[in-house]
Amino acid sequence: LAGNIKHGGLIEKAFGITLRELMFDFGGGSASGRPIKAVQVGGPLGAYVPESQWDIPLDYEAYAAVGAVVGHGGIVVHDDTADMARLARYAMEFCAIESCGKCTPCRIGSTRGVEVIDRISNGENRPQQVKLLRDLCDTMVHGSLCAMGGMTPFPVLSALNHYPEDFGLAAPTQLAA
Ligand code: SF4
Repeated sequence: LAGNIKHGGLIEKAFGITLRELMFDFGGGSASGRPIKAVQVGGPLGAYVPESQWDIPLDYEAYAAVGAVVGHGGIVVHDDTADMARLARYAMEFCAIESCGKCTPCRIGSTRGVEVIDRISNGENRPQQVKLLRDLCDTMVHGSLCAMGGMTPFPVLSALNHYPEDFGLAAPTQLAA
């Protein structure tokens, strides 16, 4: 349990505990004292989980059902000052740096992903760029050879779907099929 949390550390519990229990019963809430906004579960390629999903039991099936992953079990907490578009950009940038370069969706897609998110943040033809970002994520999920490129869309799409206002979008948008 890490990030913006009062009591970070290693917690060993059976599957089925909820994020809310972990963050508040064990973690004591945010270190900043501000409301918690988003929680990245499962590592740097894990999805951002919004408050509406903090009472879901932490297990493989329940998380898969909402498009999230348990991953390596890491839980990184962000308070309400987090800019989810910036965190989505960071995920693409992380992929671009870490990519081994063997396959195109990951090697090129991550770099294009950074550029597309920048255009969304700058308000350049936003609807078209959001569609492009979803198409790009779909290609990365289905065309990458390993989890590096295949899972980078998890933090990107979860940020876009759950926090559209941070991307300058008014209404919640749907996860691409
Ligand atoms: S998805 Fe995996 S194999 Fe393909 S470039 Fe990225 S790190 Fe390499």
